[in-house]
Amino acid sequence: MSLQSTDKKYIANTYNRFPVSIVSGKGSVVKDENGKEYIDLGSGIGVTSFGIADEVWQNAITEQISLVQHMSNLYYTEPCVRLAQLLCERTGMKKVFFSNSGAEANECAIKIARKYASDKYGKDRFTIITLNNSFHGRTLTTLAATGQEHYHELFTPLTPGFISVDAGDLDAIKEVHKETPVAGVLIECIQGEGGILPIESTFIKNLNDWCNENDVLFMVDEVQTGNGRTGELYAYMNYGVTPDVVSTAKGLAGGLPLGAVLIGE
Ligand SMILES: *Cc1c(COP(=O)(O)O)cnc(C)c1O
Repeated sequence: MSLQSTDKKYIANTYNRFPVSIVSGKGSVVKDENGKEYIDLGSGIGVTSFGIADEVWQNAITEQISLVQHMSNLYYTEPCVRLAQLLCERTGMKKVFFSNSGAEANECAIKIARKYASDKYGKDRFTIITLNNSFHGRTLTTLAATGQEHYHELFTPLTPGFISVDAGDLDAIKEVHKETPVAGVLIECIQGEGGILPIESTFIKNLNDWCNENDVLFMVDEVQTGNGRTGELYAYMNYGVTPDVVSTAKGLAGGLPLGAVLIGE
């Protein structure tokens, strides 16, 4: 059987693929099974940020897996601590929580907002506002956060407590907060999955100010925009804003499953 028909037979039918099987590559070039070369402009959707089969990256991983590949959270390991330190030093954030994926990082961000608001304002303040056309992950909670109706179909009921508004519409957010106390706002600075839609910079700035004035956590999903993909280390740095929570993944480990949440004071 050809690879493509074996894929069809054994892999769950959830993604459409192009009829190309990638075997290897180097830098920005990948090769299919016939040796035909392609320029990789997709970077695994923001994942292979060092390029394909980067040597420094390969050596770092090879060295580490020859020492120890995994420890539970019951013990200390140096790479984990050093990465957390580096992320805090480069961003000014205070603490890091590690996960395996972007969806889990966003789940953690949502839990942070709910816990913060519940500790301070009581259990009725749990609503998270997100934007239409956003994408925050494929778990039931991050799907609820995702402001695209077609992703919700067939999977309801999703986790309650999410309201999505149009990008740029700060008045809509103020209206929601009057009726339903808001715990946090979660945005992408450039919406990726939604169609590469940059969010207007004055809106991002005004939203950050409004969040500060109302003690609503300002949370930025940097799963796709993070780790250097917009010129700055994280996309929010292009706007002069200070998020309370930043989630990241994809490019963070250049192709290994790693996510992180950076948490402010
Ligand atoms: C891909 C993506 C996610 C989900 O990340 P996974 O690692 O696939 O769980 C979340 N948010 C944004 C903006 C993404 O692009």
